Amino acid sequence: MTVSYDITNFYNELVAHGLILPNGVKGAYGRGAVFEEIARAFNDLVSRIAKNDGAQEVMFPPVLPRALVEKMGYMDSFPQLAGSVHSFVGNDAAAREISERVHAGLRWEDMLEPTELMLVPAACYPVYPNFSGLLPGGGRLITVLNWVFRHEPSDEPTRLQSFRMREFIRMGQPDDVLAWRDEWLRRGLDLLQGLGLPAQSDVANDPFFGRTGKILAANQREQRLKFEIMVPVISLEKPTAVASFNWHQDHFSSLFGISNADSSVAHTACLGFGLERVTLALIKAHGFDPKTWPEEVRGQLWP
Ligand code: ATP
Ligand code: ZN
Repeated sequence: MTVSYDITNFYNELVAHGLILPNGVKGAYGRGAVFEEIARAFNDLVSRIAKNDGAQEVMFPPVLPRALVEKMGYMDSFPQLAGSVHSFVGNDAAAREISERVHAGLRWEDMLEPTELMLVPAACYPVYPNFSGLLPGGGRLITVLNWVFRHEPSDEPTRLQSFRMREFIRMGQPDDVLAWRDEWLRRGLDLLQGLGLPAQSDVANDPFFGRTGKILAANQREQRLKFEIMVPVISLEKPTAVASFNWHQDHFSSLFGISNADSSVAHTACLGFGLERVTLALIKAHGFDPKTWPEEVRGQLWP
């Protein structure tokens, strides 16, 4: 069977099947009931695979303190992706003006003030500050699911501005953390290939901003800090990253004073499955109606 990769066609078919619900803004479409069933089933499958790992499940809102975004260096590396929450705090006269401007079709956003909040740029960001101090003997394992915002409007159904990441975060001794990251890369590949996806892994880099960003990206690749699992979804030549596996070394642990039980500086690593991207990869591989998917795939997702 020859699979064709056509962004517009794929997008239109997703809409026609009620899988995605466009709202006029790029990368901000709604998810239909069946799309959600697939995303939920995959997330649950990840939970079953990781059941015996003993991860502590935490939950954060999709916003985080502006001060935390600053401290974590997000504005140094990815200012182009950040999203900020602004609200109205003016008086009656200003409220009338905003209303008049809205109805006159004039710009009004400059009448808003930045709040203490920004949109979560990676599901793991709110986690680290909570673990300052000494870790227990074997370190820690956390899991989190959150909405993530990234300002990268695109016609590609696989590139969203608001999407969900299912993440695991490991903190502990450097050797343990690196071994954990590498082990999960194998696990992730097995999982995705086992679902009939033509998944492959490769070393990767984050989209650091600008000229200095090129150097940071090259260093990240050279040190093999980031791996991605990729699946062709909208292009054969440029497969889509559906999961990432990141070794932060002591980057976050030194910011937040996270130490091992023996007081040495801890390392951290995280891995994230992009729930929308995995869902779209499954649809691309097996068709628009999950009822028609191969039994061995359905059996894993809906046991
Ligand atoms: P870190 O925590 O170190 O910043 P991360 O693993 O949390 O990294 P990424 O590697 O940038 O963050 O993204 C994780 C996963 O989220 C990707 O593998 C991909 O599946 C998904 N993803 C990233 N960007 C988008 C997007 N624009 N639309 C949909 N899914 C995305
Ligand atoms: Zn992360």
